[in-house]
Amino acid sequence: MSGAGLGSTANTCAIIRTHYSTLEGAALAYDSYFSWKNWDHYLGIQDESGNAKFYDTGVLVIKPKSFDLSKYLELHDQLSIPYETWDYKKLLERMPHFVDDSFFPPKRYDDPTFSDPPTDKVNPQIIFFPTGGYINDAILSVHNVQRAAENKGGKFLFNKEVMKILQFDNKVTGVELSDGEVIEAKAIVNAAGPHSFIINRLAGIEEKMKIKTRTLRQEVHFVPSPGEFSYEEKGIVVSDGDAGGYHRPETGNLILVGSEDPACDTLEWVDDPDQYNQEVTDDQFKAQVSRLSKRIPNLPIPNKQQGIVDLYDVSDDWIPIYDATDLDGFYLAIGTSGNQYKNGPVIGQLMAEIIDACEQGHDHDKEPVKVKMRHIDYNLDAKIFSRKREVIENSTFSVLG
Ligand SMILES: Cc1cc2nc3c(=O)[nH]c(=O)nc-3n(C[C@H](O)[C@H](O)[C@H](O)COP(=O)(O)OP(=O)(O)OC[C@H]3O[C@@H](n4cnc5c(N)ncnc54)[C@H](O)[C@@H]3O)c2cc1C
Repeated sequence: MSGAGLGSTANTCAIIRTHYSTLEGAALAYDSYFSWKNWDHYLGIQDESGNAKFYDTGVLVIKPKSFDLSKYLELHDQLSIPYETWDYKKLLERMPHFVDDSFFPPKRYDDPTFSDPPTDKVNPQIIFFPTGGYINDAILSVHNVQRAAENKGGKFLFNKEVMKILQFDNKVTGVELSDGEVIEAKAIVNAAGPHSFIINRLAGIEEKMKIKTRTLRQEVHFVPSPGEFSYEEKGIVVSDGDAGGYHRPETGNLILVGSEDPACDTLEWVDDPDQYNQEVTDDQFKAQVSRLSKRIPNLPIPNKQQGIVDLYDVSDDWIPIYDATDLDGFYLAIGTSGNQYKNGPVIGQLMAEIIDACEQGHDHDKEPVKVKMRHIDYNLDAKIFSRKREVIENSTFSVLG
């Protein structure tokens, strides 16, 4: 198969949400939200395959009592991103199939204390962010972008592998493909997803980066909606840090169940992104689905496990790298750490402005480019996405999509 969006994006959960632990992260996501909301306008074309749809369901965030939500809310206040605070009553009115008990810390199904009765409730500050949701078809959304780019003169080449980054005098000159073809270029962007570290090694720049990337295997599962609540009609995106997972409606009145990588799960780092187990495992299916069944006691658990497996391209602090490099003309849009699909609309703008500035001789390392967001009143300092930054300690070091 060949086409746009068939890398790890093909298996993204495509959740659009604004709550991030840094101001820059929240700003990128909120600015992108407006492009998803007005997708046809953003594209400026109608794809012959149809344009992807944004399900503007909102995102509910449930945390344990120990979690301080004020940091998220301060960032939202600074950016004027709307949110509602729900109490237990409102939670159970809107999500009557839920229980409001706390299951923190999340456990695995085979933990001897997994079925112990809960002794507390979730954090009484339950936050609903109305400016979020999910995209119905991630591959279609990237096909839409391909058509929009072609409409402006962009060209796409599929089923070819970059084998060499050609360079002369510390400046890129092009790439060499697996069939020997050479494509000359003054600027090259590494956007190779989970293969990003391989391309950095080809370019010979990996050792000069303070922040590096590696690949993490992830499973996402599907289960039916509980009989009394149709996710197709009333479902919303839920980030349930208290129970250790996230979920959202999926086509066919299903629920898509993802993990927020709680401490009880072992992270599965992958050395070779072309060699990993692409099958859903019984163990992880049970772990993720049984945690959701705590929040939704009537959750039907099918015998036949359905789901998808793919890789995150994770940076050392789970914050992406959007940057120039020590090799002139070689740029990075990597380390998307399982959460940057939503920012696609604005990353294009960010990268274009970094590249334009650097190609005109600007030193982005010394004076990072500032990018004026198109939809919100915010000037983004791209410094936070530098490959040369120190690890950002207030990152969550995990994601929910
Ligand atoms: C299971 C899962 C769930 C996720 N959920 C969410 C979510 O809910 N919300 C969200 O915002 N984000 C989410 N993400 C993250 C998001 O999907 C990624 O950040 C994003 O899709 C990465 O896009 P990309 O274009 O950088 O990489 P990719 O889509 O992986 O594309 C990289 C491309 O580079 C190509 N390539 C690699 N090496 C070479 C080479 N040598 N020559 C030529 N081509 C090459 C690959 O074939 C591929 O086509 C999720 C990710 C996963 C895996």
